[in-house]
Amino acid sequence: MIEVGLRIDVDTLRGTRQGVPELHEILARESIKASFFFSVGPDNMGRHLWRLLKPTFLLKMLRTQAASLYGWDILLRGTFWPGPLIGKHCAAVIRETEAAGHEIGLHAWDHQQWQNRIDKFTPDTLDIVIKRGYDALKEIIGKPPTCFAAPAWRITDDGLKILSRFPFSYVSNCRGNSIFRPQTADKITDDPLHIEIPTTLPTYDEIIGQQCDSESYNNYLLDLIKPDQLNVLTIHAEVEGIFCHELFADFLHQARSRDITFKPLGSLLPKAAEIPPGSIRKITQPGREGWIAAQQ
Ligand SMILES: [Zn+2]
Repeated sequence: MIEVGLRIDVDTLRGTRQGVPELHEILARESIKASFFFSVGPDNMGRHLWRLLKPTFLLKMLRTQAASLYGWDILLRGTFWPGPLIGKHCAAVIRETEAAGHEIGLHAWDHQQWQNRIDKFTPDTLDIVIKRGYDALKEIIGKPPTCFAAPAWRITDDGLKILSRFPFSYVSNCRGNSIFRPQTADKITDDPLHIEIPTTLPTYDEIIGQQCDSESYNNYLLDLIKPDQLNVLTIHAEVEGIFCHELFADFLHQARSRDITFKPLGSLLPKAAEIPPGSIRKITQPGREGWIAAQQ
């Protein structure tokens, strides 16, 4: 049997409202529990998408048909008016996720802001935005979220240090191939940094139209899942929960016949205290705009 950690990023109001309930159903059919990482503050993702109107992004729009992938309402959201608070509008969906036995983590207060401005965040700003998201999610589910996953795989040394002040049992901030204890470049921290469980597999928008088409997508991705390695897959409520939910349901079904099972990331944490140290650097990833953080 091959175990895969399943990380579900929820970035938008529409993803929370529409994508998450759809994913609940798909996962329940296969008796799968996963880790849901929620964005609970304003949905300004439309602003983010328009700001990215650069040649590489335009190519990606054409390649992945972003308008149909995200929906025009998401592309426009936050462009002309402040985005609605996701946690306020979708508290019931988030509570249902918790009640269904999935692991609940924090993704962001404001996904768009983190994704575009993390490089410029001061430690104080980092503390404010993480605390805002942490408190809001805690209020919704009635207990503290146990884990954190950085929007768009963007994290900095200051970000790692501020996250260590919050009682998460692990974080999932970068791409990589093994579970490790991150170290900042200066190796100076007040609290030990949280254990990192990196995403190991590519996302839908990174490989569709490149290495594979929607016909071959599931087989291509399943072939990348192997025994004797860490397997962590990140999906998005906006994509696998809405735009290609049938494809994803078929993916899970095929995985079962290959003896592949899916788990919340937290259940991949090793029992032994010995976790090797590692560092994180910025890389660019084919099919993805700008930088992402990766295990060195
Ligand atoms: Zn995200």
